[in-house]
Amino acid sequence: MNLVLLFEEDLVAPDRARLSGRRFRHVREVHRAVAGQELKVGLLGGRHGRGRVIAMDGDALDLELAFDGEPPPKLPLTLIAALPRPKVLNRVLASATSLGAARIVLLNAWKVEKSYWKSPRLAEENLRHQCILGLEQAGDTVLPELQVARLFRPFVEDALPALAAGSRKLLAHPGVPVPCPRDLREPVTLALGPEGGWVEAEVASFLKAGFEAVSLGPRILRTETALAALAGRLL
Ligand code: SAM
Repeated sequence: MNLVLLFEEDLVAPDRARLSGRRFRHVREVHRAVAGQELKVGLLGGRHGRGRVIAMDGDALDLELAFDGEPPPKLPLTLIAALPRPKVLNRVLASATSLGAARIVLLNAWKVEKSYWKSPRLAEENLRHQCILGLEQAGDTVLPELQVARLFRPFVEDALPALAAGSRKLLAHPGVPVPCPRDLREPVTLALGPEGGWVEAEVASFLKAGFEAVSLGPRILRTETALAALAGRLL
């Protein structure tokens, strides 16, 4: 946790917050916070600043807040990720958020197991929590826009054209001969496949929607590794 992310409900006054639960335990056990210590804080959706520990008991601590900075800018990246297996979903969401993706779409695909859609990890509360972990990691305060698209075809044919308008549209697909471009100076919409990869019909649908199929080379990477490598290379 590189930033203590605060929510409106933590504020007991405009310049005071009371922290309990997970963040309190982390600050006490990992940061080893003591009275007088300053922590990097940010208000969800708002500014950065410092929080000085003014009191602490066994259950909570009180911070005196001073906000004086802005969160890092988002990457102009829309990530479309075929729904990963539940355990990986958490990592992909937190990674994409910490990398600064402005928008994340979780999409169905032929090789996404149906049972993944029934996972409790798809509950809105968990999706938000994973994004919050990504914000805390990166020192950001602004949640990405998150969308869940349970039907592949209506999403790709009807919603995607508007969503991806004005961006460079890339489909990550190992094995294609076109190398992934580098250092783009334009918004990017990037589609990452499921564990079994995209099937031909899905590739065709993306190509029809204006996507280019690109590869990082012959090594097949895990989804979250591919995401980090692609984002680092593209933007
Ligand atoms: N067996 C699958 C295949 O051959 O497509 C592997 C899927 S991989 C676990 C999940 C996703 O990560 C892929 O669909 C692709 O979007 C991305 N990916 C992994 N390695 C890649 C590479 N070398 N180049 C481009 N994308 C890659």
